[in-house]
Order: sequence, then C-alpha cells, then structure tokens
Amino acid sequence: MLSFNLLATDGAARAGTLHTAHGDVPTPTFMAVGTAGTVKAMTADAVRATGANIVLGNTYHLMLRPTAERVARLGGLHKMMDWPVPILTDSGGFQIMSLAKLRKLDEQGVTFRSHIDGSAHQLTPERSMEIQHLLDATITMVLDECTKFPATRDEAAISMRLSTRWAKRSRAAFVARPGYGQFGIMQGSVYADLRRESAEALIEHNFEGYAIGGLAVGEGQAMMFEMLDISAPMLPANKPRYLMGVGTPDDLLGSVARGVDMFDCVMPTRAGRTARAFTSQGVFNLRNARFIDDGTPLDPNCACLCCTRHSRAYLHHLFRAQEILGPMLLTTHNLTYYQNLMQGARQAILAGTYATYCATTRARWAAGDG
Ligand SMILES: [Zn+2]
Repeated sequence: MLSFNLLATDGAARAGTLHTAHGDVPTPTFMAVGTAGTVKAMTADAVRATGANIVLGNTYHLMLRPTAERVARLGGLHKMMDWPVPILTDSGGFQIMSLAKLRKLDEQGVTFRSHIDGSAHQLTPERSMEIQHLLDATITMVLDECTKFPATRDEAAISMRLSTRWAKRSRAAFVARPGYGQFGIMQGSVYADLRRESAEALIEHNFEGYAIGGLAVGEGQAMMFEMLDISAPMLPANKPRYLMGVGTPDDLLGSVARGVDMFDCVMPTRAGRTARAFTSQGVFNLRNARFIDDGTPLDPNCACLCCTRHSRAYLHHLFRAQEILGPMLLTTHNLTYYQNLMQGARQAILAGTYATYCATTRARWAAGDG
C-alpha cells in the first residue's frame, strides 16, 4: 500500500511525502484536473514542467468515454496519457450528481443517463472501485454522496450514513496492491458531531488517506475554514488529508494552515482558458485593454515558459484573437503558479516560517495591480 511520511509540522500545517507505486509526491500538493484523460490544453510533458507530481482523473467522464474497459485494454490511464507518475481518480459520484441526466440514488448506488448520449448506467461502490482499478488509479476514492448545502441536520445525517455504508462496501471491493491506496471521504455537512461520527466510522477501515468532503459547495471560505478547524484534527496524523475541489490560492494557504495536505480544482486550468491569470501580484484578466501595449512578463517572479518568453501584450492579443496558444500558455502559467505556491508552502513549513510565508504572499497579492 502507499505510505505517507509526515516530515514536519508548523502549527497545524504539515509537510510530508507520499510514497506510491508511481513515485513520490511531496506535500502539501495541488493536483491539476485531467478530466477526460488530459489536462486541458496541456501535453503531459508540459504538465510535468509545471512541477506537478500527480494529477486527477475523472471516473465519470472516462467510464462513459472511452470507457474503463477500453482504457484498461490500452494499458491503463498512465500509459494512455503518457503520465507515468501518480494519478488519483475520483469515484464518479460527484459528477453524476452535477452532470448526468435522470439520476436516481438509492441504497445500492446511483442510476443515471449519460450527458453525452443518454445511455443508461449504474454506479455502485463496487462498480466504481472496479472502474478505478481498470483505469489503474494510484489513489482510488470511495463512492460517496456529496451532501448538498445547505442541509438540515437530519438530511446531513442520512446522507453521511449512506456514505459510511458505501465506504465499507468500497473498502471491501478495493484490490490492495503495493504502492496503491484508497481514501475514505468524511461527510457531515456543517455539523461537528456528524463529522466526528463519519471520521470514526471511516478510521475503522484504516484507509491509506482521508478526504474532507462536502466543503467548497457554497458555504463560503469562513465556514469552510471553520469546518476544517474542527474536521482535520479528527483524522489520523499519520495519513494524508485531501480537501476536494479547492480552490483559490488564498483557500489553499488557509487550508494548509489548518492541516490539509492535498487539493484539486479546475480553477487554474479553467481560468487559463478564460484569460484569468493567478500571479504573485494577484489575479489579472488578460482581455483587459490596459494590457494591449504591456511588454512586461505576466509574472516577473515566475520561471514558466509563458512568463520567461512572452509579454502580457502578446497574451492579450492571443485571447482577443481567440488563438489556441492563449489558453495553452496561460494554463501553463496558472498551474506553475499553483505548484510554486505549494512548494513555497512546503519549504516554509519545513523551516517553521509558514505564518510569515502566508502573510508575505497575501501582502504581495494586495499590493499588486491585479
Ligand atoms: Zn509563469
């Protein structure tokens, strides 16, 4: 099974290393989202060059097209994507609830129709584990129900307990192999006692890591941080903690401060396709007319291809002209920025200066012209 070495703590913030069958992942880490077997607009080499050591694949998309069985026949997702280093796959559940048509959830699992061709499918905990095994995921996620927000206490309890039963079935269906692992997902909405019940039930199964689920679903950053303050200490210190679907650079800094080790989000890649840049000087929209004659680098503190070879004016032009290179260059930069942010966080935690690192980073965002 994969293992996790906790190397240092600074307050609640943690620096560690995940050791997997496909290589090591220094933490805290940000996982770029490779939705349908590709990080959009990026070659695998370009993703690696941003500093990424792990990406996320979406079970829902891959099970529908090209199908998990076909990916397996092609040698697995690592081979198909030319991505030999770790891959975490989600369970498919979250995207069924957000993308699929005519979905119906019961004790057995979720039945739904594909958003692509309307074909009928069922996803159970057992089938989700089988699909992730066929994909050859380094890290497999249990199937859960992401509790809607807001939810009453009763709604949150019913939903969390279904996820708990599915976690048990997911664990039983998981095929253990050296260097591979499976993460449980804590639910419980904004109710501390439900989060405690969820954590205790999951810990009985001794997962290789734990995700904190049901956050970043509309509750806002203050509530998310409050729930992380409560939830992270409920999880074993010697296992990695993953906050799913988060977030902005500021969300990442604040969540690392509260003991989170792993993140994924479409934000840097999606923003990269819509002319929004995350930089050490804040957020820019490169379509803005003020960049039309700006010959300076996008981020003078960034060593990526985009920032060392091109100007803001060129990026502005590419987006105005709707050239493919615009999203390619800006995705390269945004992912590099996220990787640099997490690498800087790791160095600061190891040095015991994480609070200073956060304060300095936030002061630069505030002082920038973004
Ligand atoms: Zn850059």
